[in-house]
Amino acid sequence: MAAAEAHRVVVVGGGFGGLQAVLKLRKAPVDVTLVDRRNFHLFQPLTYQVATGALSPGEIAYPLRAIFKRDKNVRVLMAEVDGFDLAAREVRLSPVEDLPTPQTIAYDTLIVSGGSLYSYFGHDDWTEHAAEVKSLESALVVRNRLLLAFEAAEEEPDLQHRESWLTFVIVGAGPTGVEIAGQIGELARDTLRRDFRRIDPRTARILLVEAGDRVLATFPPSLSAKAVRSLERLGVTVLTERTVIDVDDSGVTIRDQGGSEEPVSSRTVVWAAGVTASSLTAKLAELSGAERDRAGRLTVEPDLTLPGHPEVFALGDMVRVRNAAGESVVLPGVAPVAMQQGRYAAKVVRDRLRSRETPPFRYRDKGNLATIGRAAAVADIKGLRLSGFLAWMVWLLVHLWYLVGFQNRVLVFIRWTISFATHGRGARLITRWHSAPRS
Ligand SMILES: Cc1cc2nc3c(=O)[nH]c(=O)nc-3n(C[C@H](O)[C@H](O)[C@H](O)COP(=O)(O)OP(=O)(O)OC[C@H]3O[C@@H](n4cnc5c(N)ncnc54)[C@H](O)[C@@H]3O)c2cc1C
Repeated sequence: MAAAEAHRVVVVGGGFGGLQAVLKLRKAPVDVTLVDRRNFHLFQPLTYQVATGALSPGEIAYPLRAIFKRDKNVRVLMAEVDGFDLAAREVRLSPVEDLPTPQTIAYDTLIVSGGSLYSYFGHDDWTEHAAEVKSLESALVVRNRLLLAFEAAEEEPDLQHRESWLTFVIVGAGPTGVEIAGQIGELARDTLRRDFRRIDPRTARILLVEAGDRVLATFPPSLSAKAVRSLERLGVTVLTERTVIDVDDSGVTIRDQGGSEEPVSSRTVVWAAGVTASSLTAKLAELSGAERDRAGRLTVEPDLTLPGHPEVFALGDMVRVRNAAGESVVLPGVAPVAMQQGRYAAKVVRDRLRSRETPPFRYRDKGNLATIGRAAAVADIKGLRLSGFLAWMVWLLVHLWYLVGFQNRVLVFIRWTISFATHGRGARLITRWHSAPRS
């Protein structure tokens, strides 16, 4: 009887924002349903390490059911969220993998943290040729393509084709692009150095293409310059003020600021440029009249609720927040923003149940980190600028700290220690087959 009367909270998305909301509600007198199309929480900041064979998928993902196995008031539901009925206070669902799925699920409070996707600037046909590392599945596609490129180059008799296999283009020099470029550099120059007989992996060309005038634009210019030096040491060529204007199965076309175009023959293109908010924002905007910006982000009130719907919270990568002066503020698309917002939404729910007011959401910026390779990173922590080994140690500790699951922390720590000592990468596997080979 008591359970039937409990306040019903539906949380959409078991990523950084949604997970924190549920963690902060699990001891509250509420019934929580966490809906995600995946059965695991993914630690996206390390998917690029899966893409480059440094870590295995299970080390950076954790089953949602395992996280909440002791919390009887938390139900995990694997389903696709298709839409909402804000008047009836229902979430509309459709099945994943043909699983039996309720059509709707009712809520008293709804928290939506659906994240974002990479945007290909309106060129959806480029997705086929330029994979990204946002999801575990796409990170595995990148891993296959990178490793297959070296295999193909080893047996390719034609010099031009071989060069094309050994040319890697990374589009976008934000933290993800820089990290992937650095990892491919290490793979080619260090890990694979002795693995092949006909090719020298160290001759691989790694091009990092950025439309802006520097890499890591959210960091201070001095750290961008240090990152470029570290990338160059790993054999990465940094091409700033260049835009990729075409991508196909033979490579990319790059245009410089003067308008000159250059085709680059490459069989492996990795996309790390531009994001667009989850398509759930369009549905919520249509139903509530909330504004959306050019990147699809929904504008929410200072307490992260939808205009006119105090019972609906939206947060994380998919929103920008209206401040007290009425301006819409875009916060960085990083995990700490989503985590703090998830915890904040849970606090508002708990405060409301106790008839308490909660002050507006305030983001506490703890700094910016990016790693470039072995013992090389940059960190900007409240004005303290670090680079090299010290920044790398900070990066390691922060990532281990936030990785979900004690077991994963231990596994990743062991894996990184072994890789550091041996220069190896234990997950360099090509797993392309969709069914098991018969012989
Ligand atoms: C490659 C990469 C590297 C990054 N590195 C860093 C970093 O080093 N540091 C940092 O702070 N941030 C980093 N980020 C950004 C960080 O991962 C995001 O800011 C954070 O994940 C946002 O959290 P979120 O809750 O908004 O969305 P997400 O964590 O993306 O979670 C969204 C969840 O919603 C689910 N979902 C979405 N739509 C539906 C639907 N219709 N039905 C059911 N489920 C749905 C998804 O399956 C997912 O689990 C990185 C991102 C990427 C892609």
